[in-house]
Amino acid sequence: APDLSVVSVSKTYEGGKCALSEVTFEAEAGSFVVLLGPSGSGKSTLLRCIAGLERVSSGSISFSKRTVSSSTLHVKSEDRQLSMVFQDYALWPHMTALENVAFALRRRGLGKSERNASAASMLERMGLGHLASRYPQELSGGEQQRVALARALVARPGLMLFDEPLSNLDADLRERLRVEISTLTREVGATALYITHDQSEAFALADYVGVLESGRLVQFDRPERLYLFP
Ligand code: ADP
Ligand code: ADP
Repeated sequence: APDLSVVSVSKTYEGGKCALSEVTFEAEAGSFVVLLGPSGSGKSTLLRCIAGLERVSSGSISFSKRTVSSSTLHVKSEDRQLSMVFQDYALWPHMTALENVAFALRRRGLGKSERNASAASMLERMGLGHLASRYPQELSGGEQQRVALARALVARPGLMLFDEPLSNLDADLRERLRVEISTLTREVGATALYITHDQSEAFALADYVGVLESGRLVQFDRPERLYLFP
């Protein structure tokens, strides 16, 4: 897994909205970093810059010293060896659970039967084998998010990015999926960046927490060392 280094990153959207201002932090290889902050504080913008879905205005982002984003350089998202999990699951509606997971391996130079076998074993590993031939609309929200997690992990990415993945689920499921996310992400050895506005989620998951306020990273530390306001 890569070290992730974000150095003095600023992002101003067309139209002039400054969403990120001089954000700097480092995440060690294999660590789990949670970005916490209220709505509008710039969490998604930062995640999207790291994912390569958004350009930075200034500053740089590197994976293990290889620069992927700067004002003059932009490595395409699909060349960054990362996977994302979204709040709305974003499964492909015309594909079964198995096909969704197998599709994540399409650029790996594997044959179809190998892709399907890897996808099937990932679904089994997560206790979802019996749902392999279902379409997303035939699955509950929790099941869809677990399929999306399988799809993200099956390619063994160096970097896992989570954009409020539990926000649409009820409290019971949130708790269970949180444990699965933590266990499986650590099992594949990925470096993880996870955004949430939920403090208890941040504390349960994080090796390090970054706190964003109005586009600025105002704290970055181990959870037990943070000071937080109610
Ligand atoms: P968060 O994820 O913490 O809710 P965002 O990164 O989505 O924050 O948004 C940060 C700020 O940037 C907000 O003021 C938001 O309205 C603005 N913003 C987000 N996306 C865009 C965009 N595509 N164009 C212009 N402004 C945007
Ligand atoms: P490629 O670029 O390798 O062909 P894409 O990632 O563009 O693959 O996706 C292939 C298909 O999946 C396209 O039909 C696209 O519209 C659809 N698709 C991609 N992302 C999503 C998504 N988040 N939700 C639903 N459908 C998607």
